[in-house]
Amino acid sequence: MNKTRVSQSPRLEILLRKDLDSIPQLQKLSADARTDMRAVSAVLPFRVNRYVVDNLIDWDRVPDDPIYQLTFPQPGMLADADLARMRDLVVRNAPKAELEPAAREIQAGLNPHPAGQIELNVPYLDDETPLRGMQHKYRETVLFFPGSGQTCHTYCTYCFRWAQFVGIDELKFADNQASGLAEYLRRHKEVNSVLFTGGDPMVMKTSVLRRYLEPLLAPDLSHVNSIRIGTKAPAYWPYRFTTDSDADDLLRLFEEVRAAGRHLAVMAHYSHFRELETEAAQHAIRRIMSTGAVVRCQAPLIRHVNDSADTWKRLWRREVLLGAVPYYMFVERDTGPKGYFEVPLARALDIFSEAYRNVSGLARTVRGPSMSATPGKVLVDGIAEVHGEKVFVLKMLQGRDPLWVNQIFFAKFDPAATWIDQLEPAFGKTEFFFTKTVEEMKRTHVQPAWGTETHIRKRMTEFGFVEWE
Ligand SMILES: *Cc1c(COP(=O)(O)O)cnc(C)c1O
Repeated sequence: MNKTRVSQSPRLEILLRKDLDSIPQLQKLSADARTDMRAVSAVLPFRVNRYVVDNLIDWDRVPDDPIYQLTFPQPGMLADADLARMRDLVVRNAPKAELEPAAREIQAGLNPHPAGQIELNVPYLDDETPLRGMQHKYRETVLFFPGSGQTCHTYCTYCFRWAQFVGIDELKFADNQASGLAEYLRRHKEVNSVLFTGGDPMVMKTSVLRRYLEPLLAPDLSHVNSIRIGTKAPAYWPYRFTTDSDADDLLRLFEEVRAAGRHLAVMAHYSHFRELETEAAQHAIRRIMSTGAVVRCQAPLIRHVNDSADTWKRLWRREVLLGAVPYYMFVERDTGPKGYFEVPLARALDIFSEAYRNVSGLARTVRGPSMSATPGKVLVDGIAEVHGEKVFVLKMLQGRDPLWVNQIFFAKFDPAATWIDQLEPAFGKTEFFFTKTVEEMKRTHVQPAWGTETHIRKRMTEFGFVEWE
């Protein structure tokens, strides 16, 4: 690993596709490998910062190094034919007018909008006003996408929001003002948690983040008792919390949230224990926790990055050691370069279980492997044999219908399946318990989580919604 000392308060230096030739460490790669990189990064987002390049990647282990796989475009991320096509354009130095349409075509084939996020999750302030910068999928929690937080300090190669970073999405989920959010929350007392997400909300200056957070601290919004910030900054740019010019101001803002009687959780995305090994990363966690905020940790299980029980065991142990709380292990979503990164559910369960068995109860706050699928968060809880049939035991951790939460259900065992849509119900059933209702929700654009029960029952009757009991 490169042991170059970083200065006391380093400056965030972002490297993009156009900078690929000026990253000294990349000069070790073959010209062919660099061409691959230019080809892939014309289709999928690429952005890395100097801290990651100099401190997290072990360049002696490239291309197998996990953080290199996590942050740099890999040839296997595109299908062979697509890679060949893009390579050809790159080698001939094709003009943008030729490169971009080819890239768009390939992007369109990569399921840019998984899990019904637009058709089902965008809530309405009233019957006419969609709130584009929000998602309200589960009754208790609203997701908010601040308009100025829609990028990251570094992009993950497996990002499930990749579509917005290559401009197909025109930032469909983003809002520049918190006023719509506050008004929505005033009308929805069933919501008790707001999750700021992105992109990465921590790319925002503290003064901007403050404009979003402060309105939520109003006394008439006291039903919003927790505020969460989903971020990878503690891994990719820990100086955000330590030496950046507005880091102290950020900590004061966190303290204000706590002083207003709210729980504050930094939902930190850590993919690999190495991200927690630098002094800067550990300092960031200490500073966040000093404000009374809690650090909860989550990441997807990704082939080439963290697909071993040993990696997760060391990750969870270190999180606990530093005072953070392991929260979720996710299954890689059905979008983007999933063929390169996906891990079969059966193998994911093996990895999870072996790691879980080798940590103390303090780290067993983690749940997984969990799929954020259209009906809800589906946990692969185990494999069982019932009357001679081998099945996956699944559990709904979160559901579009609150009545589904904690429901156990069964699918035929399939060692190759990587996502819930590849699973079939067990015991001769023709559909899962939620299938009809989800179809009905898609048809009517109404779902239980969107309001108080009376409001929803009324709307469902208006829409002729039949499955609600
Ligand atoms: C995971 C998730 C939440 C939060 O769920 P918790 O179980 O409370 O952590 C909220 N909304 C969406 C869309 C989610 O995927």
